[in-house]
Amino acid sequence: MTRVLLFIALLLLPFQSIYAGETGAHWTYEGEQGPEHWGDLSPDYSFCKEGKNQSPVDLVADLHPELPELIFQYHGTPVHETHNGHSIQLKVQPGSFLEIPERNQRFALLQGHFHSPSEHTVDGEHFAMEIHLVHSNEDGALVVVGIMIEEGEEDPMLNRIWSFMPEKPGDTTESPLTVFEAGILPPTRDYFAYSGSLTTPPCSEGVKWLVLRKTLTASAQQIARFKEKVGRFTNRPVQDNNARLILD
Ligand SMILES: [Zn+2]
Repeated sequence: MTRVLLFIALLLLPFQSIYAGETGAHWTYEGEQGPEHWGDLSPDYSFCKEGKNQSPVDLVADLHPELPELIFQYHGTPVHETHNGHSIQLKVQPGSFLEIPERNQRFALLQGHFHSPSEHTVDGEHFAMEIHLVHSNEDGALVVVGIMIEEGEEDPMLNRIWSFMPEKPGDTTESPLTVFEAGILPPTRDYFAYSGSLTTPPCSEGVKWLVLRKTLTASAQQIARFKEKVGRFTNRPVQDNNARLILD
């Protein structure tokens, strides 16, 4: 039990500021600048090949402690949607937070973006897409919430986002719509937690990952539209767990 508590405490420690944004050497998801070569494209990307706490991973829980409840205090704001060549990124205005009351922690929502297929797998299985909601606290520690999307019913929120989808890399649209509204994500304790990295160069470590068990659905058309605009594969392959434990 002490061991479990220690691991939870370690997962919840503050991390250094590591978000490096979109600068640096060009990289892709396939070919000579693909994931297996990221670590060689720039000295800044060394974690991509040398890191021992890399993301994504296959999610199979090692321990089942009672994880603290996540409270999503999200508010609708106008959103800038950018096609950054790797994804559609939604930059929200300040004011939305992920709160973990039991830890007295609060992380501001910075941006959301999408991958297809999912980056994390659960018991070896990919999902059609994965949403990443990137948060940071005042010290710059990153918490990324992952939400899986399965093919199924059309998702109205995605329709609103897709209706402002920028056409090509470098384009940004300003959506007057409020896509991250209060209540869009329910309070939950049902998630995987582990310590990992950014899944794109520079693959910086010290990122706390919370991947929700509850999935969303999107229609085949919605999924196809993303792939058509951004690329068929926008997922880094799963990485070795090494010494890490995954909690759920
Ligand atoms: Zn991501």
